[in-house]
Amino acid sequence: MTIADQLNALRAELPDGVTLVAVSKMHPVEAVAEAYRAGQRIFGESRVQELCAKHDALPKDIRWQMIGHLQTNKVRAIAPFVDLIHSVDSERLLGAIDRAGSQSGRAIDVLLEVHLAKELTKSGFAPDELVETIDSGRLTEYNNVRVRGLMTVGSLSDDTDLTRSEFNALRALFDHYRPRLGAQFDTLSMGMTDDYRIAVECGSTMVRIGSLIFGARDYTK
Ligand SMILES: *Cc1c(COP(=O)(O)O)cnc(C)c1O
Repeated sequence: MTIADQLNALRAELPDGVTLVAVSKMHPVEAVAEAYRAGQRIFGESRVQELCAKHDALPKDIRWQMIGHLQTNKVRAIAPFVDLIHSVDSERLLGAIDRAGSQSGRAIDVLLEVHLAKELTKSGFAPDELVETIDSGRLTEYNNVRVRGLMTVGSLSDDTDLTRSEFNALRALFDHYRPRLGAQFDTLSMGMTDDYRIAVECGSTMVRIGSLIFGARDYTK
């Protein structure tokens, strides 16, 4: 299937209220342009340099989202234009985004990434760290950051019960904090090519899908 066919199939399948982020990392500008011509406007990238290069090269109505691990010293490069940062994994990073937002004269939308998978390689707040951070009230000190919701990466495993339990745990945290964090706290980012159907069943409002749309990534390049 072409990129356009895959996008159309996904749009037909995803329920209303679930936003599709097309993850274009490691795919060339031409592939993004093809998806753009098929109507896609929200793209996710995991590296700052690649995000900035594609932002420069492609139409300005694209909403570029950062989904990968972000170093504090790279925030300023994306602060003027980034649509949403999915991968906030520490208060230190929140502080850096707040300062960069202030310098750019805009409030930056972010999600707090939560680490529920067993894999040690995954980043994100541990659930108890997340609870401590939100319950402390410190989030209100970041005037140039808008916390829009939560994000997680599920376990890379064939055990769908495990994946489902992680997504249900994130959904429970999201529901718990919605009354406290207000109407802007409306985004639950979970689900990728291999597990987006489970994520949607568990209440995801935003899926991040790469390989299914663009094909396999070539890590040798
Ligand atoms: C690469 C990536 C995706 C997309 O993965 P696919 O399996 O290709 O759909 C989604 N989320 C994050 C955080 C990623 O790094």
